[in-house]
Amino acid sequence: MWADLDPVGRASSGGYRRFAWTAEDHTLREWFAGECAARGLDLVEDRMGNQWAWWGDPDTDGPGVVVGSHLDSVPDGGAYDGPLGVVSGLATVDALRATGFRPSTPIAVVNFGDEEGARFGVACAGSRVITGAMTAERALGLTDVDGVSMAEALRAAGRAPDTIGRDDETLRRIGQFVELHVEQGRALADLDPATSAVAVGTDIWPHGRWRIDLPGTANHAGTTALADRQDAMLSAAEVVLAARSAAAEHGCVATTGKIAVEPGGVNAIPSHVRLWLDARGADQNAVKATVSAVEAAARRFGGTLTEESWTETTRFDDTLSGRLRGILGEHTPMLGTGAGHDAGVLATAGVSTSMLFVRNPTGVSHSPEEFAERDDCLRGVEALTKVVRELAS
Ligand SMILES: [Zn+2]
Repeated sequence: MWADLDPVGRASSGGYRRFAWTAEDHTLREWFAGECAARGLDLVEDRMGNQWAWWGDPDTDGPGVVVGSHLDSVPDGGAYDGPLGVVSGLATVDALRATGFRPSTPIAVVNFGDEEGARFGVACAGSRVITGAMTAERALGLTDVDGVSMAEALRAAGRAPDTIGRDDETLRRIGQFVELHVEQGRALADLDPATSAVAVGTDIWPHGRWRIDLPGTANHAGTTALADRQDAMLSAAEVVLAARSAAAEHGCVATTGKIAVEPGGVNAIPSHVRLWLDARGADQNAVKATVSAVEAAARRFGGTLTEESWTETTRFDDTLSGRLRGILGEHTPMLGTGAGHDAGVLATAGVSTSMLFVRNPTGVSHSPEEFAERDDCLRGVEALTKVVRELAS
């Protein structure tokens, strides 16, 4: 399976460009459908085109146990983020069948569409639409860099945009969802190598985005004495450094990855700088304390900080996570994550959800350098197989 996927959407960087509702996406969806057909699984698409492959009938014998992840990627993304969960799901079905296992509840492997939001800017669009976290109207109106709306993209892919929307029938079929995913940090690599190939996910960190506006006065870069300047960029520099030290102090992460400068001339003193802060951390209060410190720094320079989004901790189902650890053994690490997933969207919608993370030796993700050892991937399949065998018995 890994060899089949290897060339699809591969860019010259060595990374992948697999964006929603493109030719590459179509190839991946067809590949998934083929793998499911070869296994005699029943493939159904929900109202957003997410693909669900059932072993057993969820409508008569459900709800069932669902595994899987996504096949799309960020620009120049790695091979593992998403596909590892889908391939491991299919390999789990094979492993269970090889031992003659007969599930007493149905089992499904899901391929969520448009998880990364690389084309239309909203992550987890597939799960957001079916849970109602994003309305059909908003989804269809999103546009890509070429100005193509999601409605147009769906139509071009041969689909009917007016049928998308919340899908309670699909949600009712899910008893539990366990998403296996490559770890996107180095927490497992830093633990005892003997016991840390696979972890159980506990939660998605609280995270948010804030806009910071800093004022200055435009003036000539050559004739204005240093003492006479009100330079918004100097304030911005101070605020960026304040974010870094506040994050370090409170044990969070903070990033200022986007900035806009006015008037934007090489020879003009900046009259206004706008920058955006992304802050996350395991502890909600620590993140808020970090943001407060950044706001205080902005105020010192006459600036303001405005919240653009804030998502509190998304806890997976503690009972399910505890059960997973019971199945895999008490040595299994429990891990929160700073990255978003479809599992988080389903958990917020009230679905019993947990995750398994496979060790990433460098922690690098969303990059061609993303990697997981073959042995660790196989241990991930083993863990997922144990879990599904138990949950579907
Ligand atoms: Zn992912």
